[in-house]
Amino acid sequence: MSTGTNTGTEQSGRWFERAKSAVPGGVNSPVRAFNSVGGTPRFMVRGQGPHLWDADGNRYVDLVSSWGPMILGHAHPQVVAAARAAAADGLSFGTPTIGEVELAEEIIGRVEPVEQVRLVNSGTEATMSAIRLARGFTGRPKIVKFAGCYHGHVDALLAQAGSGVATLGLPTSPGVTGAQAADTIVLPYNDLAAVRQSFVDNEGQIAAVITEAAAGNMGAIAPDAGFNAGLRDLAHEHGALLIMDEVMTGFRVSRAGWYGLDGVAGDLYTFGKVMSGGLPAAAFGGRADVMAKLAPGGPVYQAGTLSGNPVAVAAGLTTLRAADDAVYAKLDANAKRLGDLFDAALTEAGVAHTVQYAGNLVSVFFGEKPVRDYAGAQATETWRFPPFFHALLEGGVYGPPSPYEAWFVNAAMDDEAFGIIEAALPAAARGAAQAVRP
Ligand code: PLP
Repeated sequence: MSTGTNTGTEQSGRWFERAKSAVPGGVNSPVRAFNSVGGTPRFMVRGQGPHLWDADGNRYVDLVSSWGPMILGHAHPQVVAAARAAAADGLSFGTPTIGEVELAEEIIGRVEPVEQVRLVNSGTEATMSAIRLARGFTGRPKIVKFAGCYHGHVDALLAQAGSGVATLGLPTSPGVTGAQAADTIVLPYNDLAAVRQSFVDNEGQIAAVITEAAAGNMGAIAPDAGFNAGLRDLAHEHGALLIMDEVMTGFRVSRAGWYGLDGVAGDLYTFGKVMSGGLPAAAFGGRADVMAKLAPGGPVYQAGTLSGNPVAVAAGLTTLRAADDAVYAKLDANAKRLGDLFDAALTEAGVAHTVQYAGNLVSVFFGEKPVRDYAGAQATETWRFPPFFHALLEGGVYGPPSPYEAWFVNAAMDDEAFGIIEAALPAAARGAAQAVRP
């Protein structure tokens, strides 16, 4: 057992060195490199239930859950069996399949405003396709997005993005041309007045407002009461569409995602993560009249060699079918239990903090004020995060290696897992207390 004894990183260190010569930065997605917390990224070799094991044999309670997808925990027997069975029948056909229709119907059955669904391979592809469709449908060029919201690495949506872009402190990315960024209007999250003004300033130009249904990529920040409804009303008043990005919240915060919590209907939706069961699959969908503009029925082109891949679809469909009311109740309870443990340990250590929720997404902000937007998240004492993170890691708890990411619970977490978290937290909280402002 690894309670409080995870210190060996020899194998991970060796693999990281090797990785750095074969893979840029040694990783295939930037936040995995531990740049904002320092130290050696752990190379994971196995997951089971609430735990991960690294290449040195250390065991961790996993509070990242693959950045969201693994709501049932790792290697869930039904999901693994479904993926195995699908793989045994052939890995990819490039034809329509029965499973992809069933997955689309499962999504439509859960999220009422979604009338049709197109499957893609990643959340990035979903948002990229949704904004193309919104532009094609409305015949307008501009997109409104919010600072600190992350919608994947779509060129037009990288401006002031959250997640790894926030972690690395980038305003946008070299390689995105002025022309690609020129049609993106970035506004502060939770600021309806700014959205209203923007529609006046750009009358007839805005195709869509894209928002995370609840923000999870600058930490967990729920929309203020009325914010999502206000976006919907303003968009419709001005002939634009509302795109609800539920890649992170979809099928995680309730069976119908954030829509299941606030009931505000978007015109288009993007999904990923949970609906893939941990394999590469994602989706966008929404109003049938808008989706009808997609090829082959309509002129807006969108396609994919591996879209609707049968193994990914089998894993996603089985995950969604297994995610019943009991699973959602467990996720909510686990999120609250985790937040309460953070709160108790940080209070005990005298660290100013705010534990914040967006549904069952959890964040710890080092500061007293509730955080409502990106500027607020950036104003917190993020320099307290690295020692907090590393003490947890040493105590057998794998958290997100960035102060701007949410913590993702899963339904496999049990009393033993919480015992490990509880035992690791006092040292983490002391580390945060002793951190020195750079
Ligand atoms: N949209 C949101 C809200 C996300 O959180 C993410 C990824 O974290 C994406 C889009 C992009 O998804 P992917 O990483 O699958 O491309």
